[in-house]
Amino acid sequence: MRIDLHCHSTASDGTDSPAELVRNAAAAGLDVVALTDHDTTRGYAEAIGALPKGLALVTGAELSCRIDGISMHMLAYLFDPEEPALLAERELVRDDRVPRAQGMVARLQELGVPVTWEQVARIAGDGSVGRPHVATALVELGVVPTVDDAFTPDWLADGGRVFVEKHETDPFEAIRLIKGAGGVAVFAHPAAAKRGRTVPESAIAEMAAAGLDGIEVDHTDHDADTRARLRGLAGELGLLVTGSSDYHGSRKTVSLGANTTDPEVYGEITRRATGAFPVPGAGGV
Ligand code: AMP
Ligand code: FE
Ligand code: FE
Ligand code: ZN
Repeated sequence: MRIDLHCHSTASDGTDSPAELVRNAAAAGLDVVALTDHDTTRGYAEAIGALPKGLALVTGAELSCRIDGISMHMLAYLFDPEEPALLAERELVRDDRVPRAQGMVARLQELGVPVTWEQVARIAGDGSVGRPHVATALVELGVVPTVDDAFTPDWLADGGRVFVEKHETDPFEAIRLIKGAGGVAVFAHPAAAKRGRTVPESAIAEMAAAGLDGIEVDHTDHDADTRARLRGLAGELGLLVTGSSDYHGSRKTVSLGANTTDPEVYGEITRRATGAFPVPGAGGV
């Protein structure tokens, strides 16, 4: 069983539509794929409609959180997408992304970059707008060669010249909301240092005590030493260990299934979840 529990579509900052994502997941030989767009569930219906036979879909989302000024991401799996409290928080974060992206466009214009909100909005389409869309605009304008090159202090990195904060949820509140919606909470790429400051282990321990289910250990932004350290931490804290690609289509270089989750861990996630079940592929359209 090959299980990839973290993927993005055009519902946020990925480049595959939800239908393309599930087709590509099947073609990549996956048995289970999770759709975890940033702060939104809007890709679910299309992904379910196109789900190939033999591939199961885990519905999820990646929630933007912040603790002590440090941004972090919380993966939420198999929650009830209509549960009102989590839905309201998701919408708050997602909606705040629009004025925030407009603020980044204004800062770029002040720096003489001829980017427009119309350009960024076109790139984002109907997905939750984020820095990768602004980064794609900078690539189109020839300001930087690649999306990754836009994540520097000169441009979009946390605290960078054109970085603007958005509303982000306290992770303890996120855990409470995810559980309240019947979901399972996994701290995404907890030691991805290239994205900025990372959360101390003491805070992860507090989250574990507050009901965090697991941490994403096998992730392309974690080197071998980091993975070993995180595995040890998960063992001490009784947390599940997941692995995933964090696939973003052509916006990043990582492939579907680049890292995978142990089938036993996947089984435990599905047992803990009460908000939704994995969707079995019926053949799609
Ligand atoms: P946002 O949620 O709008 O603040 O954008 C965060 C997203 O930007 C992440 O989910 C990644 O897709 C991307 N990202 C963050 N840091 C980096 C980085 N250092 N290099 C490339 N992409 C990044
Ligand atoms: Fe992303
Ligand atoms: Fe993330
Ligand atoms: Zn992600």
